[in-house]
Amino acid sequence: MPELPEVETVARQLAPALTGRVLREVRILDPRLRPFDSRGLCGRTIEAVRRVGKQVGLYLGPSAGRRPEILAVHLRMTGRLLFVPAGVRGPARHRRAVLRVDGGRVVFCDPRRFGTLRRAASEREILGPAVDPLDRALTSRRLAALLAASHQQVKVWLLRQDRLVGLGNIYASEILFEARISPFARTDALDAAAVRRLHRALRAVLRRAIRCCGTTFSDFQDAHGMTGSYQALLRVYGREGEPCPRCGGAIARVVQQQRSTFYCPACTPDPGRHRHPDKRRAGGDPRLRKP
Ligand SMILES: [Zn+2]
Repeated sequence: MPELPEVETVARQLAPALTGRVLREVRILDPRLRPFDSRGLCGRTIEAVRRVGKQVGLYLGPSAGRRPEILAVHLRMTGRLLFVPAGVRGPARHRRAVLRVDGGRVVFCDPRRFGTLRRAASEREILGPAVDPLDRALTSRRLAALLAASHQQVKVWLLRQDRLVGLGNIYASEILFEARISPFARTDALDAAAVRRLHRALRAVLRRAIRCCGTTFSDFQDAHGMTGSYQALLRVYGREGEPCPRCGGAIARVVQQQRSTFYCPACTPDPGRHRHPDKRRAGGDPRLRKP
């Protein structure tokens, strides 16, 4: 499933092809996308193409009697947005919608058909209460407040789309590894230094992945039908049993809420869950000892 870096990649690649173009026609081919109301979309200028959370947003300018709005595509599991220049044959299969502009068209393909198309008046309407991890508004302090307000395992929390938008299994594991935080640590038990490391790792990992145009597993392809290259840089995800790039210990896979988590038990030890039996006999984990 595409996560934030993959969606950012698609938006960045579509932007030069679409910005400043006028939307000429919106064809909904898949009845499952209905009731999508395309009235009033034709003739609008696409002023920008940007990622909004995990969705690709086409920012439409105002027109007679209509305010600016965002045409947002959620790719979900297998959705793709491909720009096809005029005169070039586009994909024939799994097409769900076609947006024609001057000079070409954007084809929304989606074999599993979970993707969505919607219109929104603002980014806030799309994001809801969630914060974008790359938004400047997400300071280390704000992250600390969000974490402290919850009492969940931090890996589980990172996947909550109503808190931080756009993270999935791959980047959540990578970010926690980079921050040296156990996936089992409780959000409200992270100290200030750990929160700062998490804040730094969030941005560093996501930005690095964006520079690589995302990670490709089975289905992700960008707007040019190409695949991302970040999978070569993954340090723990999908590497169960391989040596940890930091300490040489074996990468472990565990399941948290039916989702795989990859981490290194040696250099990101768990705060209690996997206490070593010898330690317990010798008086327990010192971090858990009562004063
Ligand atoms: Zn390690």
